[in-house]
Amino acid sequence: MSHVFPRHTKSIPPLAALGEGCYLIDETGKRYFDGSGGAAVSCLGHSDPDVIAAIQEQVGKLAFAHTGFFSSEPAEDLANLLIEHAPGALDRVYFVSGGSEAMESALKLARQYFLEIGEPQRRHVIARRQSYHGNTLGVLAVGGNMWRREPFSPLLMDASHISPCYEYRGRAEGETAFDYSQRVANELEAEIQRLGPDSVMAFVAEPVVGATAGAVPPVAGYFKRVREICDQYGVLLILDEVMCGMGRTGTLFACEQDGIAPNITAIAKGLGAGYQPIGAMLCTDKIYSAIENGSGFFQHGHTYIGHPVAAAAAKAVVTKLTKGGMAARAMDMGGRLQTALEDRFGQHPHIGDIRGRGLFRGLELVKDRETKVPFSPELKLHAKIKAAAFRAGLICYPMGGTVDGNIGDHVLLAPPFILTDDQIGEVVDKLSGAIDTVLAGIPATDKRA
Ligand code: PLP
Repeated sequence: MSHVFPRHTKSIPPLAALGEGCYLIDETGKRYFDGSGGAAVSCLGHSDPDVIAAIQEQVGKLAFAHTGFFSSEPAEDLANLLIEHAPGALDRVYFVSGGSEAMESALKLARQYFLEIGEPQRRHVIARRQSYHGNTLGVLAVGGNMWRREPFSPLLMDASHISPCYEYRGRAEGETAFDYSQRVANELEAEIQRLGPDSVMAFVAEPVVGATAGAVPPVAGYFKRVREICDQYGVLLILDEVMCGMGRTGTLFACEQDGIAPNITAIAKGLGAGYQPIGAMLCTDKIYSAIENGSGFFQHGHTYIGHPVAAAAAKAVVTKLTKGGMAARAMDMGGRLQTALEDRFGQHPHIGDIRGRGLFRGLELVKDRETKVPFSPELKLHAKIKAAAFRAGLICYPMGGTVDGNIGDHVLLAPPFILTDDQIGEVVDKLSGAIDTVLAGIPATDKRA
């Protein structure tokens, strides 16, 4: 009997025994292509020799030194490397152990910033529906994934949720993409006005939405307008790049492609590439200086911040993403993956949208392509596709069904950046086999709009 508390207590997972390139191998020797990088984590695959060597070297020198007493060379080097490539005026890096911690740190920093500059009335956070910012209570409250929030709702602080920029479902007939982008961005201004302009602390958004809606990129012009509104009302823009950052969309930071920079951003997942648990929050010098010249102490912290071994691993990862050209490879291979998905699913009667950026791609399932009506959540298509793909030796990340009033089922793909053209073929073949097997098993009446 296993004493590990699994995610799903009714289906105990196999034991993963080995990682080899893009594959995970279980204890029986079965090979699984990691088509989602876990959850957009394993950007360099599972056996990168440079990252492994960096960890081994660091752990032999210094495993841990508490940041209450010390900084460390790997943490300093990694911060320099991130800042060298970060957009805008991001100038300081606060290390944590994962995405939720990074986002919690971002919210607390925003709050403390306004206390330091004498605007204690600023406390409201505005985010978007169909978003996810982590599972700890603070960021769960800010996220707009209703299914994840629901059981804990009595424990959550207040946060506002405006529309996401979700062209496939949101753009009205006859509306141009640009007009749509401005309309949804302007919801932010309306919400700031409703709450009282000097009471709003931050707007939080994922540049490319990941775990709630399946790789939804923003429409051109959306984030430019968001940036303008934030500037006009003195609201901090916090971008959550936990899933879409670190080269996943083809640039180190996803927001680079939208031509804007945040005041604070959160990264994790691909930063450690699965070799070590590490996340980070980056902020501008203006925010940092408010604390430096004020109380001198960010009233936050965790035991493992700036862990030297995690930082050494992440330094090797970010070096490969930037100087090693792996983020650029994600852009190139992502275009090829999109083409392969369009070739296979472009005319599929139940695939309504194929989208994403770089190696961050999503498919949206619908009963009917014309009406875009989603499948009933009771069918649990996403869970069935995940299981069928897994049986066929493909790890993918389906979701949906019960999210925010049933917007339907999605499959997220986020493979390692080292994948080859042949492996794109393997992913597409296995995924289409899994989707068609699952669809063949549901009654015809459930497939009609
Ligand atoms: N933010 C986003 C956009 C995420 O996708 C996730 C995790 O999926 C998180 C935050 C939380 O990260 P973690 O699971 O590392 O706490």
